[in-house]
Amino acid sequence: MDFLPLNKWITNLKKPLVIAGPCSAESEEQVLQTAHALKNIEDVRIFRAGVWKPRTRPGTFEGVGTKALVWLSKVKEETGLLTSVEVAKPDHVEKALEFGIDILWIGARTSVNPFAVQEIADALKGTNIPIMVKNPINADLSLWMGAIERIHGAGINKIAAIHRGFSTLDEPRYRNRPFWRIPIELKHKLPGLPVICDPSHITGKRDLIAEVSQKAMDVDMDGLMIETHPNPDAAWSDASQQVTPAMLADIIGGLKLRTEFSPSRTFEHELEGLREQIDRIDRILLENLKSRMDVVEKIGKAKSANNVTPLQLHRMDAMMKNRLEVALALGLPEKYIKEIYEVVHAESVKRQTDIMNSFQNDKDSE
Ligand code: PEP
Ligand code: MN
Repeated sequence: MDFLPLNKWITNLKKPLVIAGPCSAESEEQVLQTAHALKNIEDVRIFRAGVWKPRTRPGTFEGVGTKALVWLSKVKEETGLLTSVEVAKPDHVEKALEFGIDILWIGARTSVNPFAVQEIADALKGTNIPIMVKNPINADLSLWMGAIERIHGAGINKIAAIHRGFSTLDEPRYRNRPFWRIPIELKHKLPGLPVICDPSHITGKRDLIAEVSQKAMDVDMDGLMIETHPNPDAAWSDASQQVTPAMLADIIGGLKLRTEFSPSRTFEHELEGLREQIDRIDRILLENLKSRMDVVEKIGKAKSANNVTPLQLHRMDAMMKNRLEVALALGLPEKYIKEIYEVVHAESVKRQTDIMNSFQNDKDSE
């Protein structure tokens, strides 16, 4: 899949790209007041507002609907910010296009459903309007990629992914667990795809937004989507996770932006030297694993000749106990060494089982 780089569809792009605005458009005044405050924050380029809200329970506020699109047109006219809304149905796409919304996004409760995504993709054919695809609510990378592929298949190449975390049963700290390896894997699988983090929906709490935003920068995400409201506690949806424009400016101002490469020659030299050391150590590690496996095979043959099982629990327990003691003395984390030895031991048992089976087959065919 080819994706148009972000700087080709957002002019004068700076890192991070910031998308801000309320969870929901509530009134013309709230929308315009927020947008005017946001236009003074340099990194904010895109205004967001939910117009049709996918609520978990019926009977809660479901968005003001199409009339808010007029308010968004005013935002564009008065502030120069690009506008974006969530679309969940072909009818939403049609309305958003009619009112000149610049960018659309597909929410987490929609990207989970291939039928719904395909219907949206069909409605988008022939437009090439930029689309941002939020991760599905469950931690399924293929489903997220599938939604992106469906949009791309409609001829859209201005696509970004939004990482908003995943629902799980147990979530003491965050509203949605981030599982950072999933968006990182997405970047590997779909090179060139911009990935934006939504710390508001990950944390569910405004006090935690700064730390998650920093983490997103540290894993080299391209932007942030942060819910912003002039009076967050009075917001009609997601009140606890919204911040004021002033708080948003502080969060962005406090970010430490790191780069993949440093201009310092001394640092690059030092890094190169340390990496050479790692390469040498890994070589020794692998050679030792090979020597270990040679001994495992000798044991396998001896056990087979003497009719002893490959797995001997008492030996495994004793070995693990000893290795963890050594690890502790060396200051290595117990969990790390335990996981490594479980894999090493499982492979040894498997190798010995294979040896026994081949001995048995030889005997059977004699
Ligand atoms: C939102 O952006 O307000 C929203 C509903 O998000 P999500 O789809 O990530 O839950
Ligand atoms: Mn929200």
